[in-house]
Amino acid sequence: MKLLETIEAVHNYVNTARRLGRSIGLVPTMGYLHAGHLSLVRKAREQNDVVIMSIFVNPTQFGPEEDFSRYPRDLERDQELAAGAEVDAIFAPPVAEMYPEGYATYVQVEGLTEVLCGASRPGHFRGVTTVVSKLFNIVQPDRAYFGQKDYQQAQVIKRMVRDLNFPVEIITVPIVREADGLAMSSRNKYLTPEQRRSALALYRALNLGAGIIKSGERRAAAVRKAMETEITAQPQTRIDYIAVSDADTLQPLEEIAGRVLLALAVWVGNTRLIDNLILEVKDDVAHYDEK
Ligand code: AMP
Repeated sequence: MKLLETIEAVHNYVNTARRLGRSIGLVPTMGYLHAGHLSLVRKAREQNDVVIMSIFVNPTQFGPEEDFSRYPRDLERDQELAAGAEVDAIFAPPVAEMYPEGYATYVQVEGLTEVLCGASRPGHFRGVTTVVSKLFNIVQPDRAYFGQKDYQQAQVIKRMVRDLNFPVEIITVPIVREADGLAMSSRNKYLTPEQRRSALALYRALNLGAGIIKSGERRAAAVRKAMETEITAQPQTRIDYIAVSDADTLQPLEEIAGRVLLALAVWVGNTRLIDNLILEVKDDVAHYDEK
């Protein structure tokens, strides 16, 4: 496996692959890899000749009060995990390679970014779409892989790709969870044992909400309320948002129907965790992946 740290090195690597007629899959990450990241790699491995993973903790997607500087980083460990998953090359640039002196250009998707995580993290998605645009231009992948864990992010990137005509196919991959249901996240490392127990309430609340909808409840407010009660019963939790939204537009629903996104963001201690679940309410029957 190659470690590439400059844009020029990526260009050389990619040009060679292209000359040999190879397809390229890109897996963008911020590193500190876990099984969620590796499931994106597995999918990319199945669908492409060459798999490139980017590892870059992107400063422009963090707010001034957020955890950019303490975000967990361990490139050596990541290299071992990526090599074990048959990644062909890692692109891990220093910040100055991506944002040199005088950097001034940003990409912004409107609408979809103004709700859910976008409402509580101003500027976050502008940073995400900017860095992902840069990665698409640098790597020029045929396909790029994103987790459903960050459902809104995947929707925003699909919209950006459509609106700006990026010649790349966006593939989304289901959420990978720990055995007890906690969605895998690099930020889980921050949790104390008590907080780790409290964090289990996120997935419980999603399943509770889905179960209530399955039993016939169609008022979003009632579903949100039940989920809220489940979360606030746990120590050290503070709700950022609980949303029952249209899965395509991300707009909040009053009456539950169609493809529905249950999504939440909860502070557990000083760590902000997110999770979500998609339900299909059709002919008055609710379907979702029960695990
Ligand atoms: P991150 O390094 O947290 O920015 O995540 C990089 C990519 O991995 C994003 O597309 C995430 O949605 C995806 N991802 C993170 N956690 C998970 C998970 N538990 N299951 C599936 N995909 C994930």
